[in-house]
Amino acid sequence: MTLIIDAHQDIAWNMLTYKRDYTRSVVETRKLEANTLIPERNGDSLLGWDEYQRGEVAVVFSTLFAAPARKKELWDTIWYPDSDTAHRLYRDQIHLYRKLADSHSDKFRLISSVKELDAVTEHWSTRAPNNEGHPIGLIYLMEGADGIRSPHELTEWWEWGLRMIGLAWAGTRYCGGTGDPGPLTDEGRKLLSAMADYNFILDLSHMDEASALESLDRYEGPIMATHANCEALMKGSDSNRHLPDRVIRGLIERGGVNGVIPLNSFLKVGWKRQSGSRREEVPLDVLISHIDHICQLAGNANHAAIGSDFDGGFGQQSIPPELDSIGDLQIIAAKLIERGYSESDAEKILGGNWLRFLREHLPA
Ligand SMILES: [Zn+2]
Repeated sequence: MTLIIDAHQDIAWNMLTYKRDYTRSVVETRKLEANTLIPERNGDSLLGWDEYQRGEVAVVFSTLFAAPARKKELWDTIWYPDSDTAHRLYRDQIHLYRKLADSHSDKFRLISSVKELDAVTEHWSTRAPNNEGHPIGLIYLMEGADGIRSPHELTEWWEWGLRMIGLAWAGTRYCGGTGDPGPLTDEGRKLLSAMADYNFILDLSHMDEASALESLDRYEGPIMATHANCEALMKGSDSNRHLPDRVIRGLIERGGVNGVIPLNSFLKVGWKRQSGSRREEVPLDVLISHIDHICQLAGNANHAAIGSDFDGGFGQQSIPPELDSIGDLQIIAAKLIERGYSESDAEKILGGNWLRFLREHLPA
């Protein structure tokens, strides 16, 4: 069995914004939303209980996310005008994940330590599924750090179970981000130095090149990129959302792992979703090329992985045609093997690399 670890899903944001219930199957959710505005705004859902089971998705990095007021969509309900609001919204999402795990303890478990991680992966590998199947392990990932009002707060965030922090989504007061180029700010440098005291895992996704490179030099704790593709394969893109080779090389040198996203507009420059069904399809092979690019830079298959970002502002209409939902990610292993990768390398890329990384960096 090849367990999948998916390094990015906006589960709480979807539960709050669209009232999505991920104990349902993808099929049920799509049926319920068929005559609503949701598919137009966020695409047809890609996440659901049955599909997690079928796809053998054992662990998910689950975001705490809210948009800054200046970037919000008209229909956004979760946005912040200031850091006090961001703080409250992120805490609300922690409470929501706790409630989800409490009320469906067979289905979802929170992970903040190696012990909790191992309990989930052991369930998948060695135990017969209970009535509900196998439990999905959720690890909080803060996407954009504006909700951390000062470095002194890190003690509380750590106690609440947070282990992973991305400083940026758009730019934050800590650093340049997507669409907002720029370096780390002084506050960002202070936050990084405080984060290292706890060994928080830093997520470089959404950081601008300047802030990512400086973080690679400066940050003493573990570093990863949960969901970002390769700029070198996106020639002509004017976005700073993709990782330049210099950043990927730095990440590899630091022992990091880079999750790639099966999102058409991050695979083909200029791809735009048309309303209605899938058009201008982008084959899954392009995603395999992004994985391969990271492996070529590393000289091995120890640093590439998956961070699907499924339901994170897009749905079934915007992903390669070989995939219909999270239940299909195992196809990536077959595609890697077609490309010449060994079975054990494919296993690493689907989950083994994240597993090694987490075992090394989460507290025991
Ligand atoms: Zn993101």
